[in-house]
Amino acid sequence: MTGGAAIRGAVTGGAATGAAVTGGARRRPRSVAVPAECDVLVLGGGPAGTWAALGAASSGARVTLVDKGYCGTSGSTAAAGNNLWLLPPDGPARTEAVAAREVAGGHLTDRRWMSRALDRTWDAVGQLADACGSVVDVAGLRVAFLGLIELSGRMDLDERAYARLMRLEPGGVDVLITHDGPYGMSRDLRGGVQGSAKLTRLLEHLQPRLHVSGHYHHLNGPRVYGRTTSYALAQLVRPKVTRWEPETTNPEQRVTAGSVGLLDTGIGDFTYLDDDWLAEVRGDALDLTALVAAAC
Ligand SMILES: Cc1cc2nc3c(=O)[nH]c(=O)nc-3n(C[C@H](O)[C@H](O)[C@H](O)COP(=O)(O)OP(=O)(O)OC[C@H]3O[C@@H](n4cnc5c(N)ncnc54)[C@H](O)[C@@H]3O)c2cc1C
Repeated sequence: MTGGAAIRGAVTGGAATGAAVTGGARRRPRSVAVPAECDVLVLGGGPAGTWAALGAASSGARVTLVDKGYCGTSGSTAAAGNNLWLLPPDGPARTEAVAAREVAGGHLTDRRWMSRALDRTWDAVGQLADACGSVVDVAGLRVAFLGLIELSGRMDLDERAYARLMRLEPGGVDVLITHDGPYGMSRDLRGGVQGSAKLTRLLEHLQPRLHVSGHYHHLNGPRVYGRTTSYALAQLVRPKVTRWEPETTNPEQRVTAGSVGLLDTGIGDFTYLDDDWLAEVRGDALDLTALVAAAC
């Protein structure tokens, strides 16, 4: 960090570990300009550091968050694939889950601590859900997100987030990132049509220049919907075996073609990253930060 930062408080964001990337040349990461002054400097952008930064910023502090990689792609978080205990404050689901965990933990657990962690998780994940359907500025581009998939039940698209995006003016978003893909993008193993009709309607209404989705685990695109070019990313590392492919399909845990893309924020151009070195990247626990840094 340069520029003689005037810092009034500092928080360190948790422990750091690193998984190795096997194969592939590494290039130097880009240098990034950081503000010379802030009230709070947070070092480390794992969950601990990022929540600390969000907390300080929401109480009015000017916050700079510094990570040697990118938020959530380094440290233990990158390897963990964190699952959360997300249970509403009231109701039998929480009581039953806590009771079951007490038995599993040989009654060594502390119910008050569990309750505090569960309350905090419920509140914090609620805040993240609010970000879904919002538009944020990323390097001068208006970027919006929509999580989950069109499927009735708890995985279904968030109605409020969807409605918020549908209320925006056409062209009000440059980049739309969604979990589900547009209807008709591909077929499943039984021949069923994949994708969300509601998402297609959103694309037709919003007309972002670029749409990027996931969920179906295979490269798909570019597909053009009016003014929008849409890409689907493959699963980053396919499992060694799957329910449908019991023969080992990815024994070396190689990075899947079409799983990483690069967006040039200067001209808004998106391309799949298929450099030769990427095909050589493999391993059970990939250091995503090194991957991204090597690509830049
Ligand atoms: C295999 C595995 C599975 C797990 N599963 C779960 C789970 O299911 N549920 C759950 O709740 N927890 C799980 N955990 C635990 C959970 O992942 C960790 O508790 C959590 O990720 C720690 O977050 P953190 O922010 O404290 O640290 P980290 O995620 O390690 O973040 C530290 C950050 O600091 C940065 N950093 C380090 N040094 C520097 C430096 N010098 N300059 C700048 N930046 C720096 C790193 O790049 C990193 O981004 C799991 C952990 C592992 C390893």
